[in-house]
Order: sequence, then structure tokens, then C-alpha cells
Amino acid sequence: MINLKGIPASGGIAIGPAYLWTKEELIVPKQVISDDQIATQIQIFEEALIKTRREILDLQKKIADEMGQDEAEIFDAHLLVLEDRTIIEEVISQLKKDKLSAAYVFQDVLRKYVQVFLRIEDEYLKERVSDINDVGRRVLRNLLGKTAKPLEELQEKVILVSHDLSPSDTAMMHRKNVLAFVTNVGGKTSHTAIMAKSMEIPAVVGLEVATLKIKTGDTLIIDGSTGLVFIDPDSQTLESYQRQKTAFKDTTQRFIGLKDKPALTLDGTRVHIAANIELPDEIPSLKEHGADGIGLYRTEFFYMNRVDLPTEEEHYEAYKFVAEAMNPHSVTIRTLDLGGDKFISHLEIPREMSPFLGWRAIRFCLARPDMFKSQLRAILRASAHGKLKLMYPMISGIEELRQANVLLEECKNELRQRKSPFDESIEVGAMIEVPSAAMTADILAREVDFFSIGTNDLIQYSIAVDRSNEKVAYLYEPAHPGVLRFIKHIIDIGHAAGIRVGMCGEMAGDSLFSLVLLGLGLDEFSMPSVMIPEIKHVIRSVTMAQASQIATQALSLPTAKEVESFIQSKLDELEIVR
Ligand code: PEP
Ligand code: MG
Repeated sequence: MINLKGIPASGGIAIGPAYLWTKEELIVPKQVISDDQIATQIQIFEEALIKTRREILDLQKKIADEMGQDEAEIFDAHLLVLEDRTIIEEVISQLKKDKLSAAYVFQDVLRKYVQVFLRIEDEYLKERVSDINDVGRRVLRNLLGKTAKPLEELQEKVILVSHDLSPSDTAMMHRKNVLAFVTNVGGKTSHTAIMAKSMEIPAVVGLEVATLKIKTGDTLIIDGSTGLVFIDPDSQTLESYQRQKTAFKDTTQRFIGLKDKPALTLDGTRVHIAANIELPDEIPSLKEHGADGIGLYRTEFFYMNRVDLPTEEEHYEAYKFVAEAMNPHSVTIRTLDLGGDKFISHLEIPREMSPFLGWRAIRFCLARPDMFKSQLRAILRASAHGKLKLMYPMISGIEELRQANVLLEECKNELRQRKSPFDESIEVGAMIEVPSAAMTADILAREVDFFSIGTNDLIQYSIAVDRSNEKVAYLYEPAHPGVLRFIKHIIDIGHAAGIRVGMCGEMAGDSLFSLVLLGLGLDEFSMPSVMIPEIKHVIRSVTMAQASQIATQALSLPTAKEVESFIQSKLDELEIVR
């Protein structure tokens, strides 16, 4: 038995077989071929088509058996693409003419084909682009002799082991087949870790050597709460973890009885407990955990795992669905926050030296007003169907906020002209996650309806510690006095200006910090759904006077460690079990 220790990213215990997954980069080099290689390349191409056809038929059969005929029919469209004579003939003639490898030519033809489809003003045809790309990747994989299974095709229940997983890889995983995952790299608040929590699957990141030590088929135990990973455990460890696994289920259920109770302190102060979501299919879970609404809807996941941009209609349908499903509760939609560790290749965001300091979030949106406005119009239109608010990520100063609001006003005017209804008094907020925004909160507060503190980034930027880098994870401390002072400052300034202040970073869902945040006067805590009952429990166990006193004392301490042990001692004193 070997054990490894990494960074606990998403709680829970999983036991099962390992599946080592290597991200395939389908990079096709430009390879010139000689005349006598032409026939072989054509043959390679034809064989790849036959192999792909067989794969699709197998997959179709499996899906039909497991999920039904309707789901399986989706693959008919894939087969049609595969058999498209125009593509096949174009590849063969170009291959003969340019004398380049089949893989290179195929990729080139496919790219042109997709571009033609994207230019057509027809929603149905535009949707075919994802079929073309899906099939294209399969053919390319076969042309390049790659064998790795795509994540969405995992059929057996496995623990995924990978060097890295991007948020888009994670979004593609089928939660029923991935018991847990572990990665070599990553930090507690990397978006992949955040996704694991939303999906309610255990995860350990930052293990550094997981892919070296673990082989496909090894039995693993993953403890997502402590960061421990056991490879081929002995029977004693296995039995002990099997028991703990059952016990963990019981503890997550421990506070579920509070789900319909308000987050009310013993002396009657009410705070709002909301959920963070990445995808609309998390709504049943957040309702089961008793969320008062959605405090952060991360819309960038809508852009992932597709080759085209979502249209205004698609945005609108998704937001309308969420608004209606949550009515009368409010839903705060955050505008696109791409960049940093969230990439999508088709937008051609260049790889940067320091992506978290680069072209991300509102900076990217302001540079692409066409794209940004289609999202803003969709949010506005959906606001006619429920209680929506919108907020901008990564605001660094008033100018960005004003520029975004100018575009928002343009969208409102366009909708008024179109006589398209929307909520004229929709609230607009700014995320406060950049130190310069925190320090100019008084200026920003005059032009927004609310603040939402994004601690994941605020911690990263104020301590200068990359949130997704395991090497510096020891510095990533929410209770750092510098961070606590920022939080106090933002809340005080927000309140002085008469606006509400929420928090939607992971810190809001960590019950160790609830008393301090409550004592500092936070109005809304927004977090992954699973944490909601526990946070309600902590808040319902104190008076506001006690919480304020704890916050004041915590803020006088010099180190994060001392703050944490002080809070723990207070929780013990008050007999609050977490
Ligand atoms: C944050 O930074 O705290 C936040 C909520 O946004 P994200 O994690 O998506 O960057
Ligand atoms: Mg952020």
C-alpha cells in the first residue's frame, strides 16, 4: 500500500479502480508526403473512417441499451457527417493535389466546412457544427492512432487520475461514472476543484506525482476531506474507509433537517444563504439543500465544450429556465468570466504568461462588445420571467464598470425599441475580487446596487498567490489578516453607501469562517449547495453580538493560523459542532 497526500478539494470518500487519463492534444503537424505515399495516406484515411463508423455504432448501441432509443438517435447525425461525400472527396482531392498527410488535410477541410456552416443564418444548421466537430475529433484521433477514451464516454465507474483537468474536461464528465478524481496539479479554488464540489464528487488535487505512482486498474481510496489517497490499500485500511464512507454520508445529512429553516441568528438577524451554480441542472440539488436563491451563476460553462458561440436565444432560454425554476427567489447571473484557468479554444484567447493577470473576464468582454451584448440582452430578456440580478466579474476600477453599464444601457434601449419586456429595475452589481476595486469600493458603491466579494480571486490577488498552483498552496490563506481587513473594508464601505454586500467565493461556504463573516456584517453567503445546511447550523447557533465580538477579536490577530485556532476555540466554547 502506498499513500499520497494532496490538497483536499471536494469532501467525501470514494473507493474504486483507477483510470489514468491523459489529455489528448490533437495537434496535427504539417507533414509533406511523396508521390508514392499518396495511396497509403488515402488508405489510412479510409481505414480511419471505417474505424470511426464502428466506434459510433458501438456507442450508439450501448446508449440505446442503457438510456433508450431517443438518446441513441443523436448519433445518426454523426454517422451522416461521417458519410458526407463532399468532405471525403474534398480530402482525397486535396491530399493528391497538395501532397500533405491525410490527418493534416482532413483537419483543414473540416475547419473550412465548419466555417461555412457558422456563416449560415440558420439555427438548425449552426447546431450541426457540434456534430461535425465531434465526429471530426474522432476521425482525427483514429488518424493519429490515439487510443484515449474521451471523458464523456467512460462507461465504467472509475476514479479518474490525471495530470490536470480543465474546467471544460470536468464539465464533460458523467458524474455517474466518475467516482472521484485526483490530479497532479491544482489548488483548492481552481475551477476544477469548484466543479467537483458542485458535482458532489470527492476530489484531491495538487498530488504532484499521482500519475507516476498510480496505474490504471489500481484500487484507490480517495479521502477528499483530508487530501489522502491510498493506492492498493490493505484490507484493514479498506474496511476502515468503507465504514467512514457510510459515516460521511450520515454527516452530510446531519444538518439537512435545517434546509427549510432560515439562516437566523439567536437574536433575530437574518442573512441570506444562496447557492453557486455552474450549470442549470444543479437546481434540484440546491433546492434539496435549502438555498434561498442563487448568488452566483457562473455562465462561462455555457461556452465550453462547443466550437461555436452560444447565440442570444440560447443564452435567453437557459437564463429564462433558471429564472422560472427559482422564482420567487433571486438569481444573480454573473457575466462571462473566461480566461485565467477557464479557456475555450475557439475564442482564440492567447495563452498568456500570467493568465490570471491577463485578458480575462470583464476585460475580455469589453473588448468583444458584440459577444458581451448578446449575453446582456439575453439576461435582460430573461429578467421578465423571474427575479434576476446581474453582476460583472473582475472589476478593477470605476471605468470598467461604467463601460459595462454603457453597453447595458444600449441593450436596454434596443429592447425597448423592440418592445421586448425586461425588468426595468434589474439590480446590477460588481464583484469585488481585485484589491484596487476593494480600495475604491466607495467610488464603485455609488454606481451599483450591490457588491459580491469573490474571495477566490481576492485572496489570490491580495496575497499574490496563484489559486491553481499546488506549489504555493500553503500561502493561500482566507484567514490572512490582509484578506480579513479587505473583507471588513468592503462590507463597511458597502453598508455606509446603503448597498448589500454578499460573498460568493469558497470562503463563504467554509463553516470555520462563518462566525467572523457574520460578525463583520455580511448580508449574503453564496456557496456550493452541499455546504448550505452546515452554514445555516452555525449561523443559527450564535447571537449577532457574539459573532461581532468574535470578528473584532479575530481581526486583531497577526497570523492566519492564530485566527483559525482562535475561531475554533470559540466554536468549541459555544459547543458548535461542524
Ligand atoms: C471568486 O473569485 O471568488 C469567484 C466567486 O469567482 P471565480 O471563482 O469564478 O473566479
Ligand atoms: Mg473570481
